[in-house]
Amino acid sequence: MTEIIHYQNFIANAFVPSDPSIEVRNPANNQLLARVPEASGEQVEAAIAAARHAQKNWAARPAIERAGYLRKIASKVRDNAERLAHLITAEQGKVLGLARVEVNFTADYLDYMAEWARRLEGEVLTSDRVGENIFLLRKPLGVVAGILPWNFPFFLIARKMAPALVTGNTIVIKPSEETPINCFEFARLVAETDLPPGVFNVVSGTGATAGQRLTRHAGVDLISFTGSVDTGSRIMAAAAPNITKLNLELGGKAPAIVLADADLELAVKAVTASRVINTGQVCNCAERVYVERKVADQFIEQMAASMAATRYGDPLAEDDLDMGPLINQAALDKVAQMVRTATGQGAEVVTGGAVADKGAGFHYQPTVLAGCGSDMAIMRQEIFGPVLPIQIVEDLDEAIALANDSEYGLTSSVYTRSLSAAMRASNELDFGETYINRENFEAMQGFHAGARKSGIGGADGKHGLYEYTHTHVVYIQI
Ligand code: NAD
Repeated sequence: MTEIIHYQNFIANAFVPSDPSIEVRNPANNQLLARVPEASGEQVEAAIAAARHAQKNWAARPAIERAGYLRKIASKVRDNAERLAHLITAEQGKVLGLARVEVNFTADYLDYMAEWARRLEGEVLTSDRVGENIFLLRKPLGVVAGILPWNFPFFLIARKMAPALVTGNTIVIKPSEETPINCFEFARLVAETDLPPGVFNVVSGTGATAGQRLTRHAGVDLISFTGSVDTGSRIMAAAAPNITKLNLELGGKAPAIVLADADLELAVKAVTASRVINTGQVCNCAERVYVERKVADQFIEQMAASMAATRYGDPLAEDDLDMGPLINQAALDKVAQMVRTATGQGAEVVTGGAVADKGAGFHYQPTVLAGCGSDMAIMRQEIFGPVLPIQIVEDLDEAIALANDSEYGLTSSVYTRSLSAAMRASNELDFGETYINRENFEAMQGFHAGARKSGIGGADGKHGLYEYTHTHVVYIQI
């Protein structure tokens, strides 16, 4: 992409003149790609007002009609899949194959949520009184503010928009300032449909400006946020004065437990893929390993060989890569610092362990650290990079105790051939998700939610859908 595009905020189905002051760069080579707006207070107001204005009529339409729009947008996403995948790779740095998966999954997700139109159900409850019916209705909340991270920026639009719209809400999306291009391109596709004005809006900007304006606003009925724990905490504070409902999908520090009876080849393959995919910048990818002593040496050796074989670089300049760059300089500095601190505390670099010499992009070598201990920051804090710290444990009990001893509780995984070990781990691991003999990703019909500081509420499936509704219980005495 050589042309520098200036994007404009999308409010009530129109791209409104905006001051494009934020630069968006390709993390693989630091080249300028586009300029996007820092939404003014008036524009955030206008977007919320447009969403509010549209909401009643939108909710009054039959759900199947609302779902029809999601299907139209899904079809447009599919028609533009290759172009969108290239844009995502350019601004976010994931390899093209993964960008294609993200685009197709987004279209499928819109279709999946559309299927719920005929399945939205209330309840009829038994009354204690003679001649009384009690109905539990599910109603839309109103206006949703969807605030997105940069790691799966395109899919996250659908993950928030699709359940919001099918249940009768309208939405204002704020993409991450790191990856807004794909969201404006999504808005272009929406504009080509006859979706009623105000149902879907996009305002871009940083968290400190557009983000805070949205989260402090009394006209927002649900803040659906995906991002870091720190930002989630700030958003809770911003939402407090208005008691705005929150849906928070936050960070993770997923433990992978490798038992002595595991299929080691499978475990190595799965953990490598999980640590390398999107350059380790995935909320539910393996962030720390607990391996049983009996197979530790073998596992560490195989993990090192597997990570060292990772092909990485600029995904638009080289073919067949497994991994691109980290998102920005700050991310690269953070990963490098965490590895330095860990080695200073006694961790041993088995492979990698340094910034990669790959030109102007933000590349870090695929890294395996052995000899890690549970008090090291590398075993406790989210790394969000291609670095795998490994700790040796004596048995499953110790592994489960260490896994649970974390402020995060999003995802966990266990590698074993024993059904009883798998069942015990599933029962005792205190996480939103556990994968047995595989790593992420989650299914759209599941429920992606985290324990402890990993979030409040969740996404996907029936349970995720109902997060976008409130209940209204009606007592009819006849
Ligand atoms: P981030 O918290 O830095 O930013 C996320 C979004 O919040 C951005 O749009 C940003 O502009 C906005 N923001 C920042 N400060 C704000 C404020 N005070 N008020 C309102 N909005 C504000 O996160 P990130 O770096 O974009 O994403 C990475 C994080 O997201 C990781 O911690 C990762 O684990 C997490 N994540 C979680 C899930 C999940 O499903 N649980 C999925 C993807 C990513």
